[in-house]
Amino acid sequence: MWRARSKNAMQGVRERLIDISQQYRAARGSGFTLRELIFFVTYACPFRCRTCFYARTLDEHAAGQTEELNLEEIRKISASLGTVHTLYISGGEPFLRDDLPEICEIFYRQNNIGTLSLPTSGFHTEKIYDDVQQIVRACPGARLIVGVALDGLRETHDALKGVDGSFDRAVETTRRLALLKERHPALFINVITTVSNVNINEVVSLAEFIRGNLPVDGHGPSPMRGVPYDDSLLAPSPEEWARVAHNLIGYHRYWYAKKTSNRLKVFLATNRTRYLYRLYTDILAGKKTPFRCQAGRAIGVLEPNGDVRLCESTVPVGNIRNADYDFKTIWRSGSANQMRERIHSCACTHACFLHPSIDLNPASLIHSYLYF
Ligand code: SF4
Ligand code: SF4
Repeated sequence: MWRARSKNAMQGVRERLIDISQQYRAARGSGFTLRELIFFVTYACPFRCRTCFYARTLDEHAAGQTEELNLEEIRKISASLGTVHTLYISGGEPFLRDDLPEICEIFYRQNNIGTLSLPTSGFHTEKIYDDVQQIVRACPGARLIVGVALDGLRETHDALKGVDGSFDRAVETTRRLALLKERHPALFINVITTVSNVNINEVVSLAEFIRGNLPVDGHGPSPMRGVPYDDSLLAPSPEEWARVAHNLIGYHRYWYAKKTSNRLKVFLATNRTRYLYRLYTDILAGKKTPFRCQAGRAIGVLEPNGDVRLCESTVPVGNIRNADYDFKTIWRSGSANQMRERIHSCACTHACFLHPSIDLNPASLIHSYLYF
């Protein structure tokens, strides 16, 4: 039994390494390959979370006068991209777009998307349920991850979100989505938590609540990044984060063991999280990462108005409407190249960028799975 499980796990690791090595070769070669695209589909959001790095941008576009990319424009952009491994659809609140299932289907059909990831406040329960139902049907071969935000227990969460009842709505959304998961095993429901100096001492209690009460597949706390909407909030100190991270590792082991009975897989995945958490501590302490950030190389960002950024924290390098909807034209432009030089030795705690950056650095990749 143990031998069969090990064989299974090694097969999984082998497939992952082949996948990564293909992306690594593409990233080093002259060909264009985007491993991950973060697409902010809308500026609409009824919240102004105190931790949100994007809320000022939402304010700037709040009047609704900015024309967001429509389906036909999105179809052309998608056609210019080739294969994309992971699509993060963000916002604003992505589920406020009426055509969200169609957007997902376009990328699924034209870009061979393997993983679709959708973060949400979880506030619009019925709309989320209906859309997710349509998306899993329209994209049957993709893994769909819905990340519902919970930034604390009820009182803390509602205060950070600024909306009474938002905790209960988010909890209800996880329960409704769990009904869908019974019929769609490729759907994963995660809870995501932004950790600041306000909720740092509640994160372990929250992890305990989620493990004991919510029908979800995982919980991923990460330190607040960027300049928050309420600029009196601070990211946790490295010492605070290290202390909490130490206590969270057992919860991660639990979530991995819930997904697979293969102990080797659980061991490797837990090591990987421990490594990521150590990186967070080092970055919060002002240290550099032992690898180059893949922003502007394997990962890019597209905004609702067509602006293209190398990452969420850098200024746009062009607008896709001025490039005949060809992503590559902007990606290879002089302004994109200049920005790549500027961010050469940059470090931040954004997990969406850290994971591919680890994967595409062979030494860090091996280190991450053997970090125990
Ligand atoms: S974190 Fe999400 S829900 Fe909160 S203001 Fe920002 S976009 Fe809206
Ligand atoms: S480390 Fe990468 S993702 Fe983070 S701010 Fe720098 S370039 Fe952007």
